[in-house]
Amino acid sequence: MACDTCGPIGARAYGGQKGGRPEEDTWLPAAAQGLEMVREEGGGDRVRRLVRCPACGDHFLSWTDYEFLVGGTEDEQGIVRLDAATTERALAARWLLEVLHEVRGY
Ligand SMILES: [Zn+2]
Repeated sequence: MACDTCGPIGARAYGGQKGGRPEEDTWLPAAAQGLEMVREEGGGDRVRRLVRCPACGDHFLSWTDYEFLVGGTEDEQGIVRLDAATTERALAARWLLEVLHEVRGY
């Protein structure tokens, strides 16, 4: 269940920024910054993180991605709240990327 700390994130949240179009930029809720790091992999513009709400203990998988597109670049951030079974798998997984493909849906 979402608590006051992580509630603004909901079940999932996204942010995206396209180069040269700041008026269309979206960002993750500020609450995503208040989560505790459990595990991190990747680097540069492509990072996966398993994070945890310090208040209620819910785990989340978050990621950043970066793409070159025709006419510019695009940064993307996402965060998904994990159920208990998926949290177990993420904690045990050799790579968070394996779980990310599943929860991200693409
Ligand atoms: Zn919480």
